Amino acid sequence: MARSFESTRNNHIKATPSEAIVMGLSQDGGLFVPRDLSEIKLDTEVLKDNNFNQMAKKIIGTFFDDFTEEQLNESVYGAYDEKFDTQEIVPVVKVGDTFIMELFHGKTIAFKDIALSILPYLMKNAEKNCDSKEEIVILTATSGDTGKAALEGFKDIQGIRIIVFYPENGVSQVQKLQMVTQEGKNTHVVAIDGNFDDAQSAVKGILNDEKIRLELKSRNIKFSSANSINIGRLIPQITYYYSTYEKLVKDKEINRGDQVNFVVPTGNFGNILAGYFAKRMGLPVNKLICAANENNILRDFINTGIYDINRPFIKTMSPSMDILISSNLERLLYYLSDCDNNYIAGLMKDLSTNKKYEVNDTIKKKLKEEFWSSYCNEEETLETIKKVYQSFDYVMDTHTAVAYKTYEDYIHATQDQTKTVILSTASPFKFPGSVYKAIFGASDQSELTLMLSLSERTGLMIPKVVDGLGNREVLHTRSCAPEKMTNEIMLILSEGQDD
Ligand SMILES: *Cc1c(COP(=O)(O)O)cnc(C)c1O
Repeated sequence: MARSFESTRNNHIKATPSEAIVMGLSQDGGLFVPRDLSEIKLDTEVLKDNNFNQMAKKIIGTFFDDFTEEQLNESVYGAYDEKFDTQEIVPVVKVGDTFIMELFHGKTIAFKDIALSILPYLMKNAEKNCDSKEEIVILTATSGDTGKAALEGFKDIQGIRIIVFYPENGVSQVQKLQMVTQEGKNTHVVAIDGNFDDAQSAVKGILNDEKIRLELKSRNIKFSSANSINIGRLIPQITYYYSTYEKLVKDKEINRGDQVNFVVPTGNFGNILAGYFAKRMGLPVNKLICAANENNILRDFINTGIYDINRPFIKTMSPSMDILISSNLERLLYYLSDCDNNYIAGLMKDLSTNKKYEVNDTIKKKLKEEFWSSYCNEEETLETIKKVYQSFDYVMDTHTAVAYKTYEDYIHATQDQTKTVILSTASPFKFPGSVYKAIFGASDQSELTLMLSLSERTGLMIPKVVDGLGNREVLHTRSCAPEKMTNEIMLILSEGQDD
């Protein structure tokens, strides 16, 4: 029998792994989770001498056990190939005494590529396993990086269409150009006049709208999600926690069994949650350090147990972390409450009615045991990029800098000597304007010009996938208000496959 997934908010809503991936979000608004996480163990010894793909196969197959060997092979080897500019897929670089896990070697130079290269394969196979013949329409809200990575992943995949919504004024010029120049007959990109939370809330609302669902069903269409609310995105991210650990063992930086810390620049809590899953599966993890930017709601939550979105949304130079409603936190709370679905449903109700909830003392205690959190402001982000460049000749992007600075705070506060890995979630060339400014001072040149200057002055090569971005044809010009997203979707669907 296949592993059972259930809604965080209702343990009567069950799904097989394939059903959970195809649906994306549970119909009650909850997120799909495997209930028996404590039964899912994977000793690092088992992965000894495995390469990234072999590890990915074992980890994904452990969770999605209704996939055949052949389906897992097709998915993993289809995803992690020459699309990545390094065979290691996720290299680890030593910078001073810390380790930087570079998650940006895929097609869109951000960490989303790890999950979104494989999600299309998982979804197609999951559809087969569910015996579903409907066309899938992927709805995606993006703070900048998910959108492009999802478009690349799903481009020209038969039987699937993808619609991406991004905040018109909330993404970098490079991010925007990457999306609006996207090729592929089945891709659609819409700018919205709002922020990421507006887009994500609207998408969740549409996915849960019974009326729309029935109407689409009559047209043989169903929606799914490529956001990290989809469990098919979360699970593949566990792999790099294991692969990095193995690399440290192999390089004799640690002995097998030694604990390590991971510092994660966090937005929707998907990346760090994959680290939590790895820890529960037996990876020796000491602390998961949650780094926030000036939208520091997660820092406040981890330190106080109160989640309060009654605060301004701040636009920062680490836009992929500009989020106040961090979806995957719901999954963490589910596990920290010992899978108490009713309790989670109550918290989420508080969140939607009062824009606030407070967890109980047991959960507050567990949060502090597993996590540590601080934040980095705009000025510190710039200072950190400059300092690390000058000290170690290493160029990091703004999100990675937020994590780096948070780790410095952590050492200062705890004196912890545990070996630590900082997750680098984007290439500096994805945010060349800010990175250039940090290292060489403010400039009024365009971001694309600064990409060239950054390359010239640091000696780093511009990743091929963004080289010449400014010369590509703009193929997407749609825009709408967040409350008009349903209309826009219906319009796109009525136009058929050619955008
Ligand atoms: C998406 C993203 C993040 C945040 O990751 P979550 O899984 O949403 O917490 C951080 N940095 C970059 C560059 C990203 O693209």
